[in-house]
Amino acid sequence: MTKNIDWANLGFGYIKTDYRYVSNYKDGSWDEGTLSTDETITLNESAGVLQYAQTCFEGMKAYRTVDNKVVCFRPDMNAKRMADTCKRLEMPVLPEEKFIDAVIQTVKANIDWVPPYGTGAALYLRPYMFAYNAVIGVKPATEFQFRIFATPVGAYFKGGTTGVALRVPDFDRAAPRGTGHVKAGLNYAMSLHPVVEAHKQGYAENLYLDSATRTNVEETGGANVIFVTKDNTVVTPKSNTILPSITRRSLMYVAEKYLGLKTEERVIPYSEVKEFKECALCGTAAVLSPVGRIDNNGESIHFDYNSQGIGEVTKKLYDTLVGIQLGKIEAPEGWIRVVE
Ligand SMILES: *Cc1c(COP(=O)(O)O)cnc(C)c1O
Repeated sequence: MTKNIDWANLGFGYIKTDYRYVSNYKDGSWDEGTLSTDETITLNESAGVLQYAQTCFEGMKAYRTVDNKVVCFRPDMNAKRMADTCKRLEMPVLPEEKFIDAVIQTVKANIDWVPPYGTGAALYLRPYMFAYNAVIGVKPATEFQFRIFATPVGAYFKGGTTGVALRVPDFDRAAPRGTGHVKAGLNYAMSLHPVVEAHKQGYAENLYLDSATRTNVEETGGANVIFVTKDNTVVTPKSNTILPSITRRSLMYVAEKYLGLKTEERVIPYSEVKEFKECALCGTAAVLSPVGRIDNNGESIHFDYNSQGIGEVTKKLYDTLVGIQLGKIEAPEGWIRVVE
């Protein structure tokens, strides 16, 4: 029985669900993995995750489709990205089949927490891995734990009828150069101060520029950015210091193959942003959140949006991507993994 929750008004917060998946890595291999009802973790005081932040994560969602199935969106992409992150952080890779099996087990065990179709909510899944054993010299741990918990979520950004407002901060991009492409708490820890400052000033997020030259657009704290030009080309920054968003890569495909739009992934100098017609943030949590305004040291750039606060091309992209995720539009081969 689906839980009795006010799905339509759900925010983006943690709600404890029934089961989480746990697997341990020791002596060079992963154990079989199990589902647990215990949401707590007991750690050694010198665990690698606590001392040197050797930990990483993924974010993905399970949806209930129009024909009442429960599906995940491109879980193989999350498995691959986590493998890349693990290699960079000297952590063991979890094999792709094991990752996907763990995702499916977690969703099935918490099936009552998957929001009904049409509520706008989804079951957010948080796969993560952390260094378990004690280390004190600066070196990687040898024992790790991989977990997935599930929590039902609603909208991440509330842009209302005017879209989300961003600022270009004086801070360097949170992710130090060279590690911006890993999905890891270490980058997020460094982004907390700038985002608290942004919120104090009334902005939803920071739009970071590249830390090497501070001239090119990168991304926000937790979402990639796309722009639409006056002739309806969809443009997104090319940089190896931003997180390769699965949503962004999917949207670029949708723009080209479903909507017949021209797309470009290229370096975008901030000086060019005022030429763009639309702007939006994309990610699993953000989905595609329209940006209304970007402020940079007293200079504002405004973007197009309708009475619902969304630009014309952004709306088409949103409707097509969400339509694919909810089973209303035929998905490209391999994008939808049916759980139940
Ligand atoms: C997770 C994340 C994104 C969005 O990636 P998706 O795969 O689309 O969810 C964007 N930027 C950062 C920094 C992230 O951590």
